[in-house]
Amino acid sequence: MKAPKFSYVRAESVDHALALLDQHGDEARILAGGQSLMPTLNMRLSRPQLLIDINRLDALKGIALQGDRVRIGALARHVEVLNSPVVAKNLPLIAEAMPHVAHVAVRNRGTFGGSVALADPAAEMPACALALGATFVVQSSKGRREIAADSYFKGLYETARAVNEILVEALIPVEKPGTVSVFLELARRHGDFAMAGLACHARIDKGVIAEARLVYFASEVRPTLATRAIAAIKGKPWNDATRDAALAALADDLDPMTNLHGSAAMKLHLQRVLTRRAIDQAVARARAA
Ligand SMILES: Cc1cc2nc3c(=O)[nH]c(=O)nc-3n(C[C@H](O)[C@H](O)[C@H](O)COP(=O)(O)OP(=O)(O)OC[C@H]3O[C@@H](n4cnc5c(N)ncnc54)[C@H](O)[C@@H]3O)c2cc1C
Repeated sequence: MKAPKFSYVRAESVDHALALLDQHGDEARILAGGQSLMPTLNMRLSRPQLLIDINRLDALKGIALQGDRVRIGALARHVEVLNSPVVAKNLPLIAEAMPHVAHVAVRNRGTFGGSVALADPAAEMPACALALGATFVVQSSKGRREIAADSYFKGLYETARAVNEILVEALIPVEKPGTVSVFLELARRHGDFAMAGLACHARIDKGVIAEARLVYFASEVRPTLATRAIAAIKGKPWNDATRDAALAALADDLDPMTNLHGSAAMKLHLQRVLTRRAIDQAVARARAA
């Protein structure tokens, strides 16, 4: 199908884009890589009157180490994140996850900020950002504010970003020495959206799980930090008893959606399989470090 009629403006500055957002409100949409927006227009799932193209705004680009955080500009393409030595060195979780995001053609255009702004429940980058305790910087004509990833993802495609705000950048704490990350997902074919997935970041000291963040995606309406499963493993060695307690606790943490990919029960089962594999791998990586 063809997209419905819309007007198009190429923003000349962030302030210009924000002024247009103020003027047009919910009738306007930011156009970043267009890899999600354009299909929804073509399928007539969305009918914005105006697209505000931010692709030429240098202020939203780039990836750089800033103190103990990595700044990923909203317009950084997935391919740039994939190839970034800064990400490879400081954010191994994101480096491990990025090859799972779609296919080369989509990664060449799609942006980190577009993924976080859209908050697709099956997207990899929101889950990784949450697992690493990222902060998202959003800007409106009134100024900037920071939103912790922990309070950013509200529901299905719903975030704490207001309609008059642009996502400017993500600030992600570097993964400290002594910590390990594991990213796993299950998809029918490599590059498809996941049916179940887990971003795991942990500190494991002499076989004992000192700290962990387990973020599940694709099964839930939003990336979900499994607080009860985390409590079940924290301070414990990874043995049969700890594993059983964590897998049991997951039933309280997760509320999987039944959809085309499978039933809620099947997704809970898949997430349990991923949990076992991810923590096995995290323990092995910590031992090898
Ligand atoms: C075939 C296919 C397969 C895909 N597979 C995957 C996958 O496996 N995993 C995955 O994570 N993604 C997948 N995607 C989606 C892809 O990663 C998109 O790039 C991403 O979801 C959106 O990024 P974008 O830059 O293209 O955003 P756009 O499509 O331009 O925008 C998406 C939404 O976010 C808003 N937006 C974008 N940037 C900003 C900003 N800076 N501030 C405020 N609002 C903004 C837009 O207004 C729009 O509502 C797939 C897409 C396709 C077409």
